[in-house]
Amino acid sequence: MRQLLSAGKRILVFTGAGISTWSGIPDFRGPDGVWKRRQPVYYHDFMRSEAARIEHWDFKLEGWEGFRDARPNATHEAIVQLERAAKLLAVVTQNIDGLHSRAGTSAERLVELHGTNSLVECQSCGQRSDPQPHFEYFRKTRKPPVCGCGGFLKPATISFGQNLKKEDLDRASKFAGQSDLVVALGSTLSVYPAADIPLIAARRGVPYVVINRGETEHDGLQEVTLRMEGDVVEIFPRAVAKALAS
Ligand SMILES: [Zn+2]
Repeated sequence: MRQLLSAGKRILVFTGAGISTWSGIPDFRGPDGVWKRRQPVYYHDFMRSEAARIEHWDFKLEGWEGFRDARPNATHEAIVQLERAAKLLAVVTQNIDGLHSRAGTSAERLVELHGTNSLVECQSCGQRSDPQPHFEYFRKTRKPPVCGCGGFLKPATISFGQNLKKEDLDRASKFAGQSDLVVALGSTLSVYPAADIPLIAARRGVPYVVINRGETEHDGLQEVTLRMEGDVVEIFPRAVAKALAS
């Protein structure tokens, strides 16, 4: 691992929910995940039904303070260290917690494939804004907030039934085509098209490292150079520190 990180000059880091559990972010799909308690609101319904919009804002309000107050952990910080050492090409994340940008990863090197909870976005004009006043408005009035243009406002995450943004997928694919090492951290690599991104890089013949606690869907693929089992926060920051010291 250390040798691969030492040799890498254009490292692509792909991250999933497993890197944020140490920051107190709930794993939505896990055994105690949110989706065991609540029904997700599909995008189609959000756009057509006021009741669905209320349900979605109520669900987002429930998690908002947790997201707002979450702090990056040693894994997010190790990725920033790679960028400062001019070894990071990009971070492509499935996470919606905004913790990579809070840790200091540059916007031009970050692709949040599933969007972010740290912004609210108008579904008509695309304008993005700070969520706090919108949550306060919803908490007081129980009315879903609306943009000045009349469009529906929604936390800027990709909803169920909503396509990923083409621009984000294009940027992620472009980075995958330029990297010289790809590292997947804390992802079960089971949600597509996101999980295609590390494979695009690996199929060009660049080394592919997978670190995760528990099985991933890429286990056993010939493209995987190194598979490390365990908690990312116990493995990756130490490996980065050693690689940067050598
Ligand atoms: Zn608008």
